[in-house]
Amino acid sequence: MIKENYLGVDVCALNMEEVLDEVDNIILQKKPSFIVAINPEKIMKAQKDENLRNLLNSASIQIPDGVGVVIASILNGGRIRSRVTGIDLMINICERASKKGYKVYILGAKPGVAEKAAKVLKNKFLGLNIVGIKDGYFKDEEEVINDIKEKSPDILFVAMGSPKQEYWITRNMEKLNVPLLMGIGGSLDVISG
Ligand code: UDP
Repeated sequence: MIKENYLGVDVCALNMEEVLDEVDNIILQKKPSFIVAINPEKIMKAQKDENLRNLLNSASIQIPDGVGVVIASILNGGRIRSRVTGIDLMINICERASKKGYKVYILGAKPGVAEKAAKVLKNKFLGLNIVGIKDGYFKDEEEVINDIKEKSPDILFVAMGSPKQEYWITRNMEKLNVPLLMGIGGSLDVISG
């Protein structure tokens, strides 16, 4: 997979379809992998924060979420020509999940928001199998982790804001044993309306 690097942060030169193909591969291989959305704001934060930079670079896929990344690529003779935004990718992954039978777990946002978003997504993609939902203001992390393990999803979306969600994902991904993990920021608030 070709990755470009802007101020020390990797970004994959993939379009939406190519990212979705990678999603299929990751789920097939079952090796825990995470997707992170890269925009100029995150690149700037990562300038002053080596831990964050390493964390972003440790993801399997860094999607070109911000238009600033596309512009940087054009100016530097790179190959990135289109944005792959986090919310569009999340919705497209849900569509693919409904077609291929992947199990989805949604973690994050205020109580009730993920349930509403799940309803919207299930109405849009018939047969979408959402096996678990939890809000992002839990006190008992152990309970959340056990629930995810028990439901054994193929995909875990984490909506707790960035970079909190990315730190949560990397801290827990080995024990969760979920193939695909992705931070989705405020997407649930948008989808739930
Ligand atoms: N959130 C959460 N737990 C927290 C902090 C935030 O579930 O401890 C949720 C919040 O309710 C919102 C999302 O995370 O749904 C963060 O959205 P925001 O737009 O701030 O994130 P960004 O897209 O900027 O990363």
